Amino acid sequence: MTAPRDTPPTAPPPAALHRLVACEYCDALYERTALAPGERATCLRCGGMLYRESTRAYRRLLPLVVTALILFLVSNTYPIVEMDLKGVRTETTLWGAVMALHADQMTLVALLVFGTTILFPLSEMLMMCYLLVPMARHRMPAGFERIVRGIRQTRPWGMIEVFMIGVLVTVVKLSTMAQVIPGVALWSFGALVVVLAAMLSFDPRDLWHYLEPPGADEVPPAGDAR
Ligand SMILES: [Zn+2]
Repeated sequence: MTAPRDTPPTAPPPAALHRLVACEYCDALYERTALAPGERATCLRCGGMLYRESTRAYRRLLPLVVTALILFLVSNTYPIVEMDLKGVRTETTLWGAVMALHADQMTLVALLVFGTTILFPLSEMLMMCYLLVPMARHRMPAGFERIVRGIRQTRPWGMIEVFMIGVLVTVVKLSTMAQVIPGVALWSFGALVVVLAAMLSFDPRDLWHYLEPPGADEVPPAGDAR
């Protein structure tokens, strides 16, 4: 029942804590070691991926986020599709579609479309920018850990690719009834899906790794090992 009193609690020093990595599938603890480019570390117990060598992906991340922001701006400014039904032309933007849903008494659907295609993807891109711009200048962004958590919580709600599939299915179906002309936003949405896929392949937790001072990854002297 009682803990032995003569053994003081042995908390690992903070530097050692930084090197620990837990398997998110089975909670096994490992000590992080440096990997060669393209390598990944997997859990010995369950085979789950622990982390991968992401230096090249990290260097690409800020240009990808800026590209995604530009494509997002274009996608929301220009019409997605134009429809020509017996000489009557109509066109809509993403925001126009949200407002049309709201006007048709489908406020909940309008909110879902707004959240999953505008609000959450934009929040994630802005949070990424907020972290990556100071980090590129070797500065620590204020509130780093809260923003990383925010990115991880926002990520599952960004569903631009689901919206894209929906639009494509609708365009194909409508093309039997009216002349459908793909708008600029349809192409930029397509490009945005590809850029976002590349951006989302980077685990935001790996950003911790690039905040650490150089040399933090090196193997400690033998006396430090448990
Ligand atoms: Zn595991």
